Amino acid sequence: MARCRWCRRVLPKRAGRGRPKLFCAQKCRQWDWVTRQRAAELDLSENELVIARDQLDALHDELYVLSCAVDDAKRDLAAPGRRSAKELRELVDWLIEAAEALQARNLL
Ligand SMILES: [Zn+2]
Repeated sequence: MARCRWCRRVLPKRAGRGRPKLFCAQKCRQWDWVTRQRAAELDLSENELVIARDQLDALHDELYVLSCAVDDAKRDLAAPGRRSAKELRELVDWLIEAAEALQARNLL
């Protein structure tokens, strides 16, 4: 499955010939270019990157919330007894809410 080189979104399958797409949008192509320029200036390798601490902290926070939501869901589902549709709905809503914060990151 081909993904955008910048935002990692899955690229649509391309009908016909031509060079395969590397980016989902022009803005992703631009960000990738800018990043490569900065990496070259800082003499970073392909696998090194610079990220602002607050952005990394925010990502860790969102991953932590998602991890908690997954733990809650597993614990709820492992407990004996039947769940009502409302309880299951709340559980799924909580998982979606936690995941959406990460999903929104792709919409920059
Ligand atoms: Zn993209």
